[in-house]
Amino acid sequence: MYLILLGPPGAGKGTQAASLSKELRAAHVASGDLFRQAQKQGTPLGLQAKAYMERGELVPDELTVRMVLERLEAPDCSGGVILDGFPRTLEQARALDQALGASGKNIDAVLYIKVSEDELVRRLGGRWLCRDCQTPYQTISSPPKVAGVCDSCGGELYQRPDDSRETVRTRLRVYEERTAPLIAYYIDLNKLIEIDGEQGIEEVRSEMLSALKSGVRAR
Ligand code: ADP
Ligand code: ADP
Ligand code: ZN
Repeated sequence: MYLILLGPPGAGKGTQAASLSKELRAAHVASGDLFRQAQKQGTPLGLQAKAYMERGELVPDELTVRMVLERLEAPDCSGGVILDGFPRTLEQARALDQALGASGKNIDAVLYIKVSEDELVRRLGGRWLCRDCQTPYQTISSPPKVAGVCDSCGGELYQRPDDSRETVRTRLRVYEERTAPLIAYYIDLNKLIEIDGEQGIEEVRSEMLSALKSGVRAR
């Protein structure tokens, strides 16, 4: 199964992808995590992506597509994949369709997580992530049991530099311009499922699972 989680920064893609990947036994592939990992390792890809990420802009399609398609070749992806944060442009979506098509695969569904801008800003302002396993926490809605420590692995929690107020504003604008057009793209392909992302984490999860089971498509 190939699933895409589509939605603005802070919508809950990472949170839901982590639990869906366990439930559906599919690999969780997050383009942002891959870039951050490359940066930590100091690879050429990491260095090239750094400045774009710091500014809240998109990394160029060519680099991004190459990185993600390479990741999809890994053995753990053969049983299914949950894509989180990719594709983010029409060019990326077309490149993905083409690559999957060439190997006789295709996207099963796109879960579009809809959340208002006020709520996104609130969520990102209080987002903390585990340095080791990338689990996201939120100061108000889903705090860790012990401040600064990951519940699942004991790792150290940190705040992403691009979650600063000003960079969040840029990321939301970039989302509207470059990524929101993917909603229409996947409606045309009859793959879009709209999910109310304003609900609690558990409610969003169960709406996703029941939509996937019944194969409901939005509009
Ligand atoms: P968010 O939590 O906002 O959804 P991500 O962790 O997915 O953020 O992405 C962080 C940053 O990494 C983006 O602002 C962008 O610079 C870069 N990035 C991640 N995925 C992509 C992509 N598919 N295309 C281009 N840039 C990307
Ligand atoms: P994305 O990957 O789409 O950028 P995250 O999954 O990292 O989003 O979620 C953004 C922040 O909001 C995190 O701090 C997370 O703990 C929190 N969060 C995620 N889903 C919800 C929800 N349904 N209600 C409230 N807070 C949420
Ligand atoms: Zn952890």
